[in-house]
Amino acid sequence: MKDLTPDTAPQTEQALRRDLSDAFRICHAMGWSESVGNHFSAAISADGQEFLLNPRWQHFATIAPEDLLRLDSRNSDTLEGPDAPDASAWCIHGTMHGQLPAARVILHCHSPYATALSCLADPTVIPLDNNTARFHGRTAYDLSFGGIADAQEEGQRLAESLGDKSVLVMGNHGVTIVGDTVAEAFEDLYFFEKAAQTIVLARSTGQKLAVLSDAVAQNTAEGWQAYRGMAQKHFAYLRSTLPPLGS
Ligand SMILES: [Zn+2]
Repeated sequence: MKDLTPDTAPQTEQALRRDLSDAFRICHAMGWSESVGNHFSAAISADGQEFLLNPRWQHFATIAPEDLLRLDSRNSDTLEGPDAPDASAWCIHGTMHGQLPAARVILHCHSPYATALSCLADPTVIPLDNNTARFHGRTAYDLSFGGIADAQEEGQRLAESLGDKSVLVMGNHGVTIVGDTVAEAFEDLYFFEKAAQTIVLARSTGQKLAVLSDAVAQNTAEGWQAYRGMAQKHFAYLRSTLPPLGS
């Protein structure tokens, strides 16, 4: 039986490595991984310049705590050598951590419904229920897709688009989530996928949508604050379901 005790802040690097590596494996178990691409990161230093990132093209299902790369966004030699990270991951996460030190954890993936939502001409997260309203006032949009991101300017633009929000809908691409802890960021990723699923399914009926008022949506978003503790409990349960690494 695995330890179900929630992690407490501040975390050691080892605890952060354990949380982040489990997040990759849970993401795969959810069906949200994509080949050996996509990337999650977690800041180690207070200024966000030093952070953990998954190794280039290692499948999410196989990532162990010790596999994570410890990188410094100020190191211009990072893309040299055999252990260099994926260029796109480096550009996005290195720049975002450097620009947004409050973004302790950054999760980027192409989960199916979030990606489908991002491909709508209007990908607005309309408040329809509890899960969609959870993101009311917390979602930013970047609709300037220009191909696979491998330039520092791309990371800069994404950081500016995100601003003080928690979720960045990346038009024609997918989603990026930021949070204080791995568990909280993963919980937002989980609920964002659920919210996107609801929007896509509701839109697919072709019927007129019963959109919540701004006041109700705002009230619902604020109401979620009382449930922040769910994140640690949910993450602890999900990690308890993971198979042993290498099995
Ligand atoms: Zn991507």
